Amino acid sequence: MTGKTGFFYDERCFWHSGGNYAFMAPVGGLVQPAATGGLPENPETKRRLKNLIEVTGLLAELHATGAAPATDEDLRRVHPAEFLDVFRDTCRAGGGETGLRAPYGPDGFEIASLSAGLVIGALDAVLSGTCRNAYALSRPPGHHCLPDWQNGFCLLANIAIAVEAARAKGTAKRFAVLDWDVHHGNGTEAIFYEDPDVLTVSIHQERNYPLDTGDFAARGAGKGEGTNLNIPLPPGTGHNGYLSAMERLALPAIRAFEPDVLIIACGFDAAAFDPLSRMLANVETFRAMTRQVMDLANGIFEGRLVMAHEGGYSETYVPFCGHAVLAEMAGSAIDAPDPFAATLAARQPSKRFDAFVESLIGEMAEALT
Ligand code: ZN
Repeated sequence: MTGKTGFFYDERCFWHSGGNYAFMAPVGGLVQPAATGGLPENPETKRRLKNLIEVTGLLAELHATGAAPATDEDLRRVHPAEFLDVFRDTCRAGGGETGLRAPYGPDGFEIASLSAGLVIGALDAVLSGTCRNAYALSRPPGHHCLPDWQNGFCLLANIAIAVEAARAKGTAKRFAVLDWDVHHGNGTEAIFYEDPDVLTVSIHQERNYPLDTGDFAARGAGKGEGTNLNIPLPPGTGHNGYLSAMERLALPAIRAFEPDVLIIACGFDAAAFDPLSRMLANVETFRAMTRQVMDLANGIFEGRLVMAHEGGYSETYVPFCGHAVLAEMAGSAIDAPDPFAATLAARQPSKRFDAFVESLIGEMAEALT
């Protein structure tokens, strides 16, 4: 083990583009093309995260590297051949959109394969002991993608592809995936819903996206009964609610499952400035949640922790959240002070609302015992 934190990224991932949108609406009719461009899922949140860790010096403390794209064999363990053919053919024809809010350009297939490859690389590095833990700055994201349907900016199921690749190599048997992106990890959930060896946990704003998945009652099926846990939280949940949901629900489920490795679907869109959610997490929330999962990983599976970047659409705020996560993972003293800390400290939920969230968490914890 090098003791270093792996940081897997590739400039090409920032070149993924496609779709003529003004925010979430297709341009046309009364929707004027947007001057600053397109869907909320744009390269800047991710590129600025990489830039910030470079400027502070944190990048130099990491094992920064790229990875090979996912191979056809890797992709076919999760996605049907027909789906992959349509995706490839549409790219060859110049790009397009074959799902919902998941457009791509002519290089979409190639860049999505690279994005999945970064997660494969990060997971490999951790399972082989090359890195103490690892972060994949994947783009496009993956957690909404179903085996045969792209949606929510997600073109390939990055984490599922990496899990299946590791399983095929025999480098791990039991996997836990904790999704703290503010949206429900519906793709990862669906892929492993009946799988007894993959625990999927998702903490999300209830009924945000997708509207019809993510309920607490969905606990897995067949041999996978009990290996899915949804923790839907109401709009307005802040720092305290998130840490409590982790402490009382997510972490005990992972601990009881005894995985070989923990993979975080790391979205930063639960942050207060995000345009696609109504939550009040901040830099300190992400730092603290990282500390929580590291303590858990160090305690029961030798620190094996991988983060795969998902959503997060405030281009100014995401970099500071990501810096805190990476500094914590690396045990670095380098800090990038949150320039919005004072603003956000004054905008946490009231004690009354925190108590309401706590009561919902308590009900869920009760139902699990
Ligand atoms: Zn999201």
